[in-house]
Amino acid sequence: KSGFIAIIGRPNVGKSTFMNRVIGQKIAIMSDKPQTTRNKIQGVLTQDDAQIVFIDTPGIHKPKHRLGDFMVKVAENTLNEVDAVIFMINAKEGYGKGDQYILDRLQQVKRPVFLIINKIDLIHPDDLFPLIEKYKDKYDFEEVIPISALQGNNVTRLLDVIKSHL
Ligand code: GDP
Ligand code: MG
Repeated sequence: KSGFIAIIGRPNVGKSTFMNRVIGQKIAIMSDKPQTTRNKIQGVLTQDDAQIVFIDTPGIHKPKHRLGDFMVKVAENTLNEVDAVIFMINAKEGYGKGDQYILDRLQQVKRPVFLIINKIDLIHPDDLFPLIEKYKDKYDFEEVIPISALQGNNVTRLLDVIKSHL
């Protein structure tokens, strides 16, 4: 199996940490410089049964100027060309304004979208369920998977879910 997965999410939610964990190299951090390209490959995961290319889609975030509107369109097109989209959030921060903007853009996306709730090591388990309910209310996610990219919890399960959609 092989395919492309787009990773989106606000800065600091843990996208690079996740990439470094699954790829096992410091690729994501090294490619974290400001970019002018519309998409960048974060990393390629090669396993016996699968090859997954992870791409970052920066243009989907709230535009700061008019040129940004065009970038948002480009980003939406990209998200319709991948096999699935990972929308990563920070469990500790909860639902925010920036999330709603991205979820609105995701309404134009016809590919499966997985909600990845990262940094679950920072919250009390009792706080997880209300958080999931809050987001499920806002968007029809294909899957909702809580992980800790830093500690590795549930990351294998996330990869299995991704593979099942390739
Ligand atoms: P990015 O901007 O989305 O690429 O976020 P980074 O991967 O650079 O992570 C931002 C910060 O969050 C770093 O200090 C990470 O160590 C931390 N971080 C990432 N994932 C986790 C996690 O699962 N748990 C905790 N406690 N911290 C995390
Ligand atoms: Mg990063």
